[in-house]
Amino acid sequence: MSRGSSLGRVILVGAGPGAPDLITLRGERALRSADAVVYDSLAPPELLELAPAGAERINVGKRGHDPPTRPQTETTALLIELARAGKTVVRLKGGDPFVFGRGSEEATACFDAGVPFEVVPGVTSSIAALAYAGIPVTDRRYSASFAVVTGHRDPTRVREQIRWEGLAASADTLVVLMGMSNLEEIVGHLLLGGRAPGTPAAVVMEGTTPRQRVVEAPLSELVKRTREAGLGAPAAVVVGDVVRLRKPLAWFERLPLFGKRVLVTRTAEQSASLRDALQEAGAEAVVIPMIRIEAIPASPEIDAALAGLAEYDVLLLTSANAARQLAARAAERGSNLAGLCADVVCVGPATAAAALEVGFPVDRVPVSRFDAEGMLDEVRRELPPAGKRFLLPRAEKSREVLPDGLREAGARVDAVAVYRTVAADVAWERLGERLARGEFHALTFASPSAVRHFFRGLDATAREAAGRCTVASIGPVTADALRAEGIEPDVVPERAEARALVEALAEHAASRGRDSEGQGGCQ
Ligand code: SAH
Repeated sequence: MSRGSSLGRVILVGAGPGAPDLITLRGERALRSADAVVYDSLAPPELLELAPAGAERINVGKRGHDPPTRPQTETTALLIELARAGKTVVRLKGGDPFVFGRGSEEATACFDAGVPFEVVPGVTSSIAALAYAGIPVTDRRYSASFAVVTGHRDPTRVREQIRWEGLAASADTLVVLMGMSNLEEIVGHLLLGGRAPGTPAAVVMEGTTPRQRVVEAPLSELVKRTREAGLGAPAAVVVGDVVRLRKPLAWFERLPLFGKRVLVTRTAEQSASLRDALQEAGAEAVVIPMIRIEAIPASPEIDAALAGLAEYDVLLLTSANAARQLAARAAERGSNLAGLCADVVCVGPATAAAALEVGFPVDRVPVSRFDAEGMLDEVRRELPPAGKRFLLPRAEKSREVLPDGLREAGARVDAVAVYRTVAADVAWERLGERLARGEFHALTFASPSAVRHFFRGLDATAREAAGRCTVASIGPVTADALRAEGIEPDVVPERAEARALVEALAEHAASRGRDSEGQGGCQ
């Protein structure tokens, strides 16, 4: 947010090598406070979400040694102009801002212009891309030094030639960034400089992301093998005996969902936990919400429930949305949640977390199944419901399992609609093309409405392509909605929860790997 002073500042932030969660805590804090974010193509797009909704986001489009979409002087002028307008400007750069990022030029320009600046170092791809490929830059047995070199300058010039030949002999591990277009010349000079043709070498493309690809070859064969495999920028080239360690140390590529692209169809607000769990399992999560939540701002039922909040014995929260929307309505009317003496029961841990965040005291969460049926069992067993008053804020057109079951057990239940789910705007044509190209290994669904909107929006070809993917449903009710569309889900976890869904997907992928002659999937 604007700091009120007439002069803003520029914060040069290292975005890390590609995986969005490799930004530093300080970098994340800077983004959260930004009025403007000026970013390069190498900065992971997910990080832009950390900036406040109203912050300007400006792409200056540089990618390694590609010609910039804007000249450097223009970028620098832009930073200074924004800061002079009083803004907190985050200059987000791939990796570390001072490793071939021209960060020092931008910082110097700020200094010259009298604009305050700070630097938040980042995890550089020159170390991290290798680490995710199982290649340590140093190792007591193989390497006591490393050099990080740009491959960008024209290596045919005489001075460059001498530099490369000197480098060949000066460090045990050589890491070359921006070296893909000159790879042939670089390797040639290293060989001339005395590196043995059999020296282990590798190219790591898009390291730390689920799109990571690695080619390993003796130095003399590196160019051929890299070109054959079709690797391109952004990639780090590494030359040295440490490459021998890759086989045991390639931990990232052994993650259960490494390299798989998984579609997440939940609402934007609710997809974070599933996206994080997928990323931790090595997958690329593509979030395309099929539905969005719309508040029901007022109704006689809501007014009556909030006016009589203190009279309820039990508050049942069946989704994070219900918790957030009820809290929002209460806040609008000045109702005090602290005056709530009801037992608060949440359907699962994600709902409980959201409830706590908005100020509800949470008393219990069912331990077995995180759905309406599991909640009903728990409440019947633990509370007994007879004679008690329940408040159940929920979505319009919800299932009646919970209120009916409680009423049967002698409870009084006020089921009050506080939100509705509506179809989200989706670029259907593009999604259809991606499905038809087999870009998604798996599709995930977390509600019947997401299932309905998904299949309603696609044409016949795309729908057929969707059927060839692994299809995962968060629970039995969503699974039934898939069956109604003619799709038998491949994966339904025992607990309706993001982490359980990802574990079930991983098990499914492993079993498919074991009997891999049945290559029916999308990939
Ligand atoms: N400041 C950045 C480097 C910028 S130069 C850093 O510290 O990482 C851009 C070059 O970095 C690319 O051409 C490529 O060589 C390398 N690079 C960036 N991201 C990469 C990644 N995910 N995997 C491999 N190399 C990467």
